[in-house]
Amino acid sequence: MTRPPGAELTAAELARADEHSAHNYDPLPVVLESAFGVWARGIDGVEYLDMLAGYSALNFGHRHPRLVAAAQRQLERLTLTSRAFQHSVFADFCEAVGRLCRKDAVLPMNTGAEAVETALKLARKWGYDVKGVPPDSAEIITFADNFHGRTIAIVGFSTDDEARGGFGPFPPGFRTVPYGDAAAVAAAITPNTVGVLVEPIQGEAGVRVPPDGFLASIRALCDEHGMLMIADEIQSGLGRTGHTFACDHEKVVPDVYVLGKALGGGIVPVSAVAADWSVMGVIGPGQHGSTFGGNPLACAVATEVVGMVESGEFQSRSRELGSHLHALLAELPGVGEVRGRGLWAGVDLPAGGPSARTVCERLLGRRVLAKDAHEGTIRLAPPLVIERREITWAVEQLADSLQSSE
Ligand SMILES: *Cc1c(COP(=O)(O)O)cnc(C)c1O
Repeated sequence: MTRPPGAELTAAELARADEHSAHNYDPLPVVLESAFGVWARGIDGVEYLDMLAGYSALNFGHRHPRLVAAAQRQLERLTLTSRAFQHSVFADFCEAVGRLCRKDAVLPMNTGAEAVETALKLARKWGYDVKGVPPDSAEIITFADNFHGRTIAIVGFSTDDEARGGFGPFPPGFRTVPYGDAAAVAAAITPNTVGVLVEPIQGEAGVRVPPDGFLASIRALCDEHGMLMIADEIQSGLGRTGHTFACDHEKVVPDVYVLGKALGGGIVPVSAVAADWSVMGVIGPGQHGSTFGGNPLACAVATEVVGMVESGEFQSRSRELGSHLHALLAELPGVGEVRGRGLWAGVDLPAGGPSARTVCERLLGRRVLAKDAHEGTIRLAPPLVIERREITWAVEQLADSLQSSE
């Protein structure tokens, strides 16, 4: 392959980062310096089409003017108070997120993993205080191939050896069953089960959509056995699948929503847990918190995000452009199964051919940023502001990358 201009610059910068940073990632060989909308510019001077969107943290594209303006307004006024004091955008944020989720109350955190931990603590405390589970014996059902973040408790119930290996001992109290298998959920329930933690679509596992009726079955089991349905909508929520939440596809309303990623508008980390008072009411002062959770800058940006989601515009874009994307992918020669909903797709590559990583490197050479999910799957999740012709172009680049070794 002919090296594009600026490739030496990129190589030097990657080597410098490698020398000074922990090696907990293996990034594709590109160094970005600026971006707007769906396009990101590398220090090599090349414009790349972003088909990953920060794992859905950039649903509204890079530096959306409405979100940048909201952040800038807030930067000029107040950025941090800690939760020791109330601030003037806090109520706006909680009201907005609660309204979007149709829940009474919101608990703000920063990262996705923290929000998942919050939901787990909430479910356990609810189990003891409301359900009457004996102390220290609450159980939560989780699913094989889940991804909920990187804390010790969360990787403890991961089934990915890379994610959990070497990090034990892990907290007990989790039972893991196959994803999509409602009978396995039913079989794992005990009198001490307080909740079921589920991704409505498994993102990191390769955009795996559960069988129809799976979420509704979990909802029914939770109602029947007095357990909380906790939906991790961190990657699937806020328009990604063509609805506000991926649970909406089955008209299922969980007891607890866990949000993150796009809630921060691609500007600041913002996560949140939303639930009704019957659940959220079990947490009192001093029992949970975060110095940065619900800070003014985060609240200002996330409130604007909710306003944008409430317009419905991004959900319809995802639905309409998603069917364009999936129609093109269905015609793509040389691929296996294609899964997903809306502007979200997992494209399996046949065994024996190039790895997903190799195809992503070839895509990079064709100015498309995409990321593998495990060895054999390419994940596509562009910002929801992408245009139809850009999708067509990206899939053409994917077709070329699958065919040629360059
Ligand atoms: C990314 C992700 C998380 C973790 O979010 P972080 O902000 O990286 O901690 C949790 N759950 C799901 C479904 C995710 O996609």
